[in-house]
Amino acid sequence: MIDTRSALVLFSGGQDSTTCLAWALHRFEHVETIAFDYRQRHRIELDQRLVVLTEIRRRFPQWAAKLGDDHFIDMGVLGQISDTSLTRETAFEIEQDGLPNSFVPGRNLLFFTFAAAVAWRRGIRQLVGGMCETDFSGYPDCRDNTIKSLQVTLNLGMDRSFVLQTPLMWLDKAETWALADELGGAALVDILLQHTHTCYQAERGPLHAWGHGCGECPACALRKRGFEIWKSAG
Ligand code: ZN
Repeated sequence: MIDTRSALVLFSGGQDSTTCLAWALHRFEHVETIAFDYRQRHRIELDQRLVVLTEIRRRFPQWAAKLGDDHFIDMGVLGQISDTSLTRETAFEIEQDGLPNSFVPGRNLLFFTFAAAVAWRRGIRQLVGGMCETDFSGYPDCRDNTIKSLQVTLNLGMDRSFVLQTPLMWLDKAETWALADELGGAALVDILLQHTHTCYQAERGPLHAWGHGCGECPACALRKRGFEIWKSAG
């Protein structure tokens, strides 16, 4: 049985995937989560995601009732084969081809493929990911066309009709904060600020207005800027 009211969310513990989780909990009857350990430098996100799940259960009883299993996939082999600044102690910079060296080739393709394999077993149809090509680092596997094409490939290759949902695809970071506010109000914004992890440098440090992080790396810069624009608009 394929349940169209169930969803599996790619949930890393960051701002975007937490907003996607809220989006799915708002929309679907039963929601499961999945995470990948690919030996990312900011593995602290894997600890924070459990804190976020606990806080969501505690502060949103109506969502807690829908929140199901959490799946944790060891994808260490991706870290082994990836020579990138997200998986090695290398400074962040832009390569000659214009891509940041934080790009991990194949990452989102593998994440969705493994998520689909889990969803296949669990009878889940909807797969949700926080990919976005509006306010992003230029990673080609975050683009809408990549995800649409992958949806076709997965459905052909697994003989299913998965729907790959990317609710943030056409939102900038300020709009992502606004969406979180719309879905879960001040309580969700508070969870995002205090507990989600975005920083590539794995820095938690003091709590800034926009959350924890170094404030300098590309991920922090996007998060901080989006928050400031959202705040000044509100
Ligand atoms: Zn940072």
